[in-house]
Amino acid sequence: MKLTIASLIVVATVLISGCKTTPPVVTTKTPVLSATGAVIVKQDAKYFYYKKKCEACGFTSKNQIGSGYPKGKGKLSSTFKCPKCGKNQKVQIEIKEASTTN
Ligand SMILES: [Zn+2]
Repeated sequence: MKLTIASLIVVATVLISGCKTTPPVVTTKTPVLSATGAVIVKQDAKYFYYKKKCEACGFTSKNQIGSGYPKGKGKLSSTFKCPKCGKNQKVQIEIKEASTTN
């Protein structure tokens, strides 16, 4: 009898501590993006949305552009001519830290 109770306590302790130490299950991790000439507006596991931004004067385009993530070490490259100051610049978005599920 004592043994049974003891083993029950052990099982309960394992279950409780297991629940406490197990982090919430995250199946998809959102990649960390590094953007030049753009600001990331929002992102989820599959897509991200950005606005082109002028590095010279800080003008941010009103148009929100959605895109899938570049594969592997790929980059998303584009250009942006600032309507405010007229500066032509590169837009580059790359994955700094890839999703663990890929
Ligand atoms: Zn500008």
